[in-house]
Amino acid sequence: MALPLEREEIELLTEELEVIIAAHLAWFKQINRTLVCASQVNKADLAEDAHLRSPFGQWYYSSDPLPLRESLNFQALGATQQAMHAATRLALLEVLDKRRPEPDVYDQCIDLALRLNTMLRRVQLDIIGELLTTDSLTGCASRRGMLLRLREEQERSLRIQRPCCLCLLDFDRFKLVNDERGHPAGDAVLRQGLKFITGVLRKYDSIYRYGGEEFLVCLPGTPLKEAALVIERIRSGLERLPVRLPSGETLYVTASFGLTEMHPRHSVEEAIADADMALIRAKDYGRNRIELSSGG
Ligand code: GH3
Ligand code: MG
Ligand code: MG
Repeated sequence: MALPLEREEIELLTEELEVIIAAHLAWFKQINRTLVCASQVNKADLAEDAHLRSPFGQWYYSSDPLPLRESLNFQALGATQQAMHAATRLALLEVLDKRRPEPDVYDQCIDLALRLNTMLRRVQLDIIGELLTTDSLTGCASRRGMLLRLREEQERSLRIQRPCCLCLLDFDRFKLVNDERGHPAGDAVLRQGLKFITGVLRKYDSIYRYGGEEFLVCLPGTPLKEAALVIERIRSGLERLPVRLPSGETLYVTASFGLTEMHPRHSVEEAIADADMALIRAKDYGRNRIELSSGG
């Protein structure tokens, strides 16, 4: 899926899908009624492009670039919906000629309509899953599902024979920000800080909220030295980032970083522990710095 999505975007899409599912079910009910009771045939359902005219079709093929377009479950909807309309058209032509549709044709209409409903629910579940794995404050991935995804990255890096690095970052003296400027100021730092950090990260990098003001960055396909350059860009950019507080004041913050390379024979948990030890050293050596793990 083309993710991560913004939380509001996810909520909007979930609601949108609920409307589409309801519209599809209403359509399904009406078609079933026509086929069973041989009632009035709706002209729009007889058209060659019926799949484009239905509420589903208008939503699915709308020029609005839906953020779901890259999702495989979303892409699969199109073929099923088109087949459903083709089967329905055949059945409706029978009704129009005052004949009963063949049981096979009727079954096909029903099966495809029910399948489309299940597939729409699957897309909705994907989106809800995204909501569960997104941190509401910063919009980055939450800890839920993190280990699973990191293990996948580790396996991938093994397969393609490319190193993968992990970096734990922790904002410096963050308790002071909250104590001196208030909790909303702390929230503003996290929100704007993470917006900046995700902007520096590359397409295949990922970032998770690991704890309160602690984040885990995964840098696939990147040797330690190269990863250190990316992290240095984050460190130096962050210290120069003017954070706008709710009070209107501007605040500058720093963070400390512990960087490690994932070892193929060590677990992801061990790699995180290595990064954590390096992070503790970065704090001990005075903060606002990057320490590389000596493990591996
Ligand atoms: P250090 O440089 O050693 O990391 O010091 P620190 O003050 O950053 O570390 P400490 O762990 O003592 O404090 C972390 C603080 O982060 C405490 C906690 O209230 C705050 N915090 C955690 N999550 C959030 C959040 O979502 N919003 C705000 N505003 N504060 C948070
Ligand atoms: Mg801290
Ligand atoms: Mg901390």
